Amino acid sequence: MSETSTFFAEGGVQVSAPGRVNLLGEHTDYNDGFVLPVAIPQRTHVQAAPSPDSRFHVYSSNLDEHAEFEVDGELPDGYARYVAGCVHILRDHGVKVPPLSMKVHSDVPMGSGLSSSAALEVAVLRALRRILGLELDDVQIAQYAQAAEIRYAGVQCGIMDQMASSLADTGHMLFLDTRTLDRKILPMPADTELIVIDSGVARTLAGSKYNERFAECREAARLLGVPMLRDVTDVDALSQLPSTLQKRARHVVTENARVLAAVAEGVDGPTFGRLMNASHASLRDDYEVSVPALDTLCDMLRAEEGVHGARLTGAGFGGACVALCKRGQAAGIAEAVTTRYNQDRLLQLAGVLLPAPASQNGDSQPQPLFD
Ligand code: ADP
Ligand code: MG
Repeated sequence: MSETSTFFAEGGVQVSAPGRVNLLGEHTDYNDGFVLPVAIPQRTHVQAAPSPDSRFHVYSSNLDEHAEFEVDGELPDGYARYVAGCVHILRDHGVKVPPLSMKVHSDVPMGSGLSSSAALEVAVLRALRRILGLELDDVQIAQYAQAAEIRYAGVQCGIMDQMASSLADTGHMLFLDTRTLDRKILPMPADTELIVIDSGVARTLAGSKYNERFAECREAARLLGVPMLRDVTDVDALSQLPSTLQKRARHVVTENARVLAAVAEGVDGPTFGRLMNASHASLRDDYEVSVPALDTLCDMLRAEEGVHGARLTGAGFGGACVALCKRGQAAGIAEAVTTRYNQDRLLQLAGVLLPAPASQNGDSQPQPLFD
């Protein structure tokens, strides 16, 4: 099957689903806590049509990669596992899914913490809902998408990303209680806009460290005798924990409190921004999922007069930062900060690559010129 394959022309469907940026409530969803994402304008598009043979065919134009699988066969490797996972989940729920051809195209950046994986899953499930005429509501779509990522892609994710992709819009915050799935669509703080900048740092450690944090949270909850860290609201209750677990739990407890503070009546841009700054500090110092590039990018954003606050968004170890700024200023600030950040990165790169001048004591080993 090629990208220009014509059998998509007849009997097919076209659907899409957005990525998301999380404003507050990071690493809280797998602790049954609170989150506050917004959909981003970038979307993943899926075209689906009956397959010409007995196999599923998938093509991602982003990766220029084809994959094939059978619903009762082995899972494919790579990105197609997310797609096959969605088909398998429907099968697990008793839906007979006939073989399909699917084409995927996305403008959600992949692996930047803006949830291209959930956008892919939700878009695939929307396509399956449409083409098979399934009676699935948007919450079920999110639940199936999350189950596909956990069971078939092997990522122990919470439900925030899939709920955001399935239910959020780009103009409002989705305040979600991930335990009960109670939710409210809320307006952004008055006279504000969002800036999202990708640090360009690949999230190499994200997978393994994510699983480590997941396990640490479970262990902290077990030692505290609660089902989930969501059930703790008083940081003093954490003092009995060993120091590392205490820090991890303190992030979760204080982050939940920050989400609740941010959705209180009448919260303005500067107050919301301070909560974002505090969230970043907690992710950096207590949860230890930041990296220097994300700290630098947030500092550069905060140095701008129009910025209320900035933080890393997504799981960390690379990926993107989000900032809240005064309305009308996002484009200008984003351009200025991106330019400065790129210059800074180029200088650092040059510093690492160039040998340092010989030092006074005759030691001429190459050294980084910059920290
Ligand atoms: P994030 O969800 O933050 O973007 P993840 O690591 O969770 O990062 O998911 C990224 C993975 O999702 C990619 O490596 C790829 O396997 C899959 N993916 C997402 N969008 C696409 C796409 N358009 N085409 C192919 N694979 C995609
Ligand atoms: Mg993801």
